Parts: sequence; C-alpha cells; structure tokens
Amino acid sequence: MDTWQITALDTGSSVIEKSILTYLYDVGSQIRIPRVMWYIAGAKKIIVDTSIESEQVATDIIGENLFRRPEQEPLAALKWIGVDPAAIDYVIFTHLHWDHAGNNHLFPNARFLAQRDEVRYAYAPSSFFEKSFLSPQGGFIPPYLKVRFDLIDGNYEMLPGLELVKCPGHTPGSQAIRVKTRQGWHTITGDAVFTFENLEKMIPPGFHVNIDASLDSMRRIAEISDVVLPSHDYKLFPQDEPQLFGG
Ligand SMILES: [Zn+2]
Repeated sequence: MDTWQITALDTGSSVIEKSILTYLYDVGSQIRIPRVMWYIAGAKKIIVDTSIESEQVATDIIGENLFRRPEQEPLAALKWIGVDPAAIDYVIFTHLHWDHAGNNHLFPNARFLAQRDEVRYAYAPSSFFEKSFLSPQGGFIPPYLKVRFDLIDGNYEMLPGLELVKCPGHTPGSQAIRVKTRQGWHTITGDAVFTFENLEKMIPPGFHVNIDASLDSMRRIAEISDVVLPSHDYKLFPQDEPQLFGG
C-alpha cells in the first residue's frame, strides 16, 4: 500500500482562554496554541487546512492577537520545507472556521475538498458562529467565497492510504484525515481533537455544535489511529521548526 509523510507547519500562535479547547475545564486560564498547516507528501502533494490569512483578520475581526514570526508566514513556512504552492494537487479542509481556511489563494492549481455539510453550514450557521466562519450571513467576506469545492458526503477513501473520515461535533461537517505512513495510521483530527488532553480525558472541545457527536467523533478517531495529530497543541512541536510525522 502507498504510504505518505506528514509535516506539521506552525504558522503562528495566539493565547486564548483554555476552556475554549477543553469544555468547562480550567476556566479562566490561558494557553498558547499553534495554528497548524499540514503538508502531506506521497503519490500527490496535499495541504490540510490553510491557516489564518493575516494578523489583521485575527485582531480586527476575531479580537485575538496572532503572533507570526517571518518564517511562520504560510508562504515562508512552505518554502522552509521546499514546497512550491503551485505544485499542490489538493487542499483538504478539516472544517471552514476562520483559522483553518484563510489562505486558499496561495494554491492556484489545487482542488479543494470539504464536506458538503460543512460548506452549507458555513454559509448559514447559527448566529453564534457567524464570525468564526467569517460567514457571508454575518456580513463577512469569507476566504472560501471563491473556492469551488469538491463536495464530499461522509467517509471517503480519497487515495490509497488516505481517507477522509467524517467527524461532526465541533462543526456539522468536520472531518479528519487518516493517513497511512511507514509508522502506522496517523490521523489529522482538525478541531475534533484540539489537544492531546481532550482525548486523554475525553473532554469535548469547548467550542462545538454538538457534544454527543463530538465525543463519538473522538472515540472514532482513537479507534482508527495509531498516532493522533490534534489541531492546536504545542506538544506537536518539540522544536521551533516544522515537524515530520510518519517518515
Ligand atoms: Zn475550528
């Protein structure tokens, strides 16, 4: 079977209220989190999630300070690992929140994959979530406005050794990416699993549309994975540099 290698790129960090990650746990404490863009190399070149467009979007719209060193700018981070954005075949979205879908314009030759449920919800979410999707319904111009998606309905074996696994709960159309590597099945969870602690203690994400679905998705991810790669945990980055998994 084909195998793949995964590189996690830290494209900047912010300090947030911790219970946004761990529902009703550690309320009032702060945590610094990475904004990860994933690169998967194998038979094709794939990006999972495109990070935050700019510090300005974070500050002016979301009200959050994004800290981005020059080498953490998405283009610079890709250059660091020798990846030409024009050579990317596919961009897969775990979901369409503002911090996961901000730089689609960098990949002119890619096809863009998301769950149909996610795209529908992003355009007309609950009023509470309009800002987090930068939804047009909330008066925002979302970075995915001009993306023509390949819409996926449920679980999908995209390529040999590369599977999209629907994981609703954080958002209706969240999906994880299950990747066969020489070191076993690795799963890029998106925000279905924010941090290792969520899975260790079975704490749902603090930001969610459905807790029961969130817990089901977390259990599914644990079952199908040899290695879990959460979305916002600095344990992914023992050094201040791109981190290779499954290589
Ligand atoms: Zn999210």
